[in-house]
Amino acid sequence: MTYSNTNIKNFRFYLIILCLILFILAFTPVSSAVTTTNSSNSSTYTISYVDTSLGGNVLNNPEISQNIPKTYLSNQIFNMTKKGSVVLKFGKGNGPKLLITAGIHGNEEEANIATMKYLEYIKNKSFNGILYIIPFAIPTDTALNSRNYKGQDPNRIANKKATPGYNIIQFARNNGVQYLLDVHSGSQVGFKGYIFVSNPSTITVKEKNWSNHIKSKTGCYISTNGADDAGMVRNCAKKYGINTITLEVERDSIPTMTSANVEYKMIQAAVNYLGFPADSYGPKITSTNPAKDALGVPLTSAVTITFNKNIKSGVNFSGIYIKNLTTGKKVTLAPKAISGKTLTVKMTYSRLRNNVYQVYIPASAVKDATGNNLKASYSFQFQTVK
Ligand SMILES: [Zn+2]
Repeated sequence: MTYSNTNIKNFRFYLIILCLILFILAFTPVSSAVTTTNSSNSSTYTISYVDTSLGGNVLNNPEISQNIPKTYLSNQIFNMTKKGSVVLKFGKGNGPKLLITAGIHGNEEEANIATMKYLEYIKNKSFNGILYIIPFAIPTDTALNSRNYKGQDPNRIANKKATPGYNIIQFARNNGVQYLLDVHSGSQVGFKGYIFVSNPSTITVKEKNWSNHIKSKTGCYISTNGADDAGMVRNCAKKYGINTITLEVERDSIPTMTSANVEYKMIQAAVNYLGFPADSYGPKITSTNPAKDALGVPLTSAVTITFNKNIKSGVNFSGIYIKNLTTGKKVTLAPKAISGKTLTVKMTYSRLRNNVYQVYIPASAVKDATGNNLKASYSFQFQTVK
């Protein structure tokens, strides 16, 4: 069998086109800003590369592989960090912009573990503001469990161009970040953890309030350790007006997860301070007793309202009332009590038979431990026994 002339011409034509396509593909730069959107459910974050020169398999580090649960999100991060450091972006809107970066020192796994745990905690939440998280600042070094980057301490050369710390700060600048949380672990820190801040002469009011908030929530210490080092990420970022503090927990003398959990709580407090997610939703009512629209309710039983988390009285606590809708009159209440998640309201006198009562709880009647108010008022009715 022979090919006809036309077939050969066609073949040459397709060959030329194919070469052309290969040529174009070969010279098309691979974008470093590959953005992956969470497809596991409602998309709340994107992941992009910060620095494609720092790739490494962080799972080669046993502390990382043993202490970070394998999930859709963590596997996504582990895979992408083989090619470089990545940043996850949450939220939108006009709220504050915060960058959390963990593990510029590749032998401080508590920082990475705490940050990854925090990512799992917030991955499906929404934000009024923008939160960037770099869970592995230098994957190459984390893979090797190495503090140094190319023979130097990367947190002493962030003032030099094109170093990992410098690039992180430029990322923060380019994205209008106002707050930077630099997460570490180290020796001789102890159980409670530290926040390292600037000297009293250079600390900003925002840094002071931010660190005091974290301290009040976690019981950690505040120190000016390292405040004078010009090549530290914290001190370099400050030059650009970015409020920056450093977190440090014990790395050596207590179990990895114990320390990681201390740092996790510090991260939580740091983010909550900026009014971000997680706990910024305020308490929600999960059940009441009597139930909504209940019939045959006894005349003297207490009314209890249960929330999804522990509560405290809020500014409108005194606005809680019970009204007899049959008579149209509010009833007299005994002092209201809160225990954990439950609010108990008792009436001073017995209820009337076969009357309808309404329980009303105004917005901000209660708040959660971090001060987030009950967002909307809530009311329900029930009817007493005949
Ligand atoms: Zn460190």
